[in-house]
Amino acid sequence: MSSRKQRFIPGIYNYCDYWCERCAFTRRCRNFAMGRALDRQVRGEPPIQDAANAEFWNDLAEELRETALFRSHDFGTDFFSEDADEPDPAWEAREAARREAVERHALCRHAREYMRQVAAWLKSAEADLKAYARSLAESDPPPFAPDDLEEEARGVGELMEVVSWYHTLIPTKISRAVGGLLEREEAGSPAANILRESRRADANGSGKVALAAIERSIAAWLRLREILPAQESAILNLLALLDRLRRGLRAALPGAESFRRPGFDDEPERD
Ligand code: SF4
Repeated sequence: MSSRKQRFIPGIYNYCDYWCERCAFTRRCRNFAMGRALDRQVRGEPPIQDAANAEFWNDLAEELRETALFRSHDFGTDFFSEDADEPDPAWEAREAARREAVERHALCRHAREYMRQVAAWLKSAEADLKAYARSLAESDPPPFAPDDLEEEARGVGELMEVVSWYHTLIPTKISRAVGGLLEREEAGSPAANILRESRRADANGSGKVALAAIERSIAAWLRLREILPAQESAILNLLALLDRLRRGLRAALPGAESFRRPGFDDEPERD
């Protein structure tokens, strides 16, 4: 295995939560490296190193060569033929029906409801958070040493960041998972069969990311519930929604929990 392989974990960014600031794998993620290179370009800074760029593109080419889709199957001329650009009304109608079914699916509706409620909560809880900060600052005797007080405030901020980050990710990932789940079981060409299999695997991967986001959100809400007793009822409601989503996802996608996300669930190779 080449050293290039050891630098980037293939496909790690497909099943992450896009929270690069908190990611332990930025050095191993090609997406992150590319974003950083683009940032430098936008700022008018020179590229980091030609050697690093060469490594980047070589790695991409290597992964493409090794992709099962291209390694094991010959799609024949129809896949890349001139007709491939022609609209296919039957396919478009099927896709439109699938998108509608995804929108209507109970998991997606509940996930959107969760997102809506959290967005409202984030606005409404501000007063309680300020009151909590005041109560810490004004307590006599103080509940924490000054450094610990800062640590406590940072901790609360981080809990808010967690629920805030994941409340939009959860519906997105659930929609994607449900979309794969509703893919029609059609016998077809080798290419169609591979795409169908790939969508099923993607549904499990997206479901796994959604489950991880739900678990983290639950943990953050449980802690916020202790901190903000005035928000008890609203938080319990959100926890109930999350629990419903978690159970629904597990039932609809039994393969999600055992899906292995590159890097996050596999033992990464060392740099
Ligand atoms: S794997 Fe990590 S660094 Fe890469 S895109 Fe996802 S969160 Fe960002």
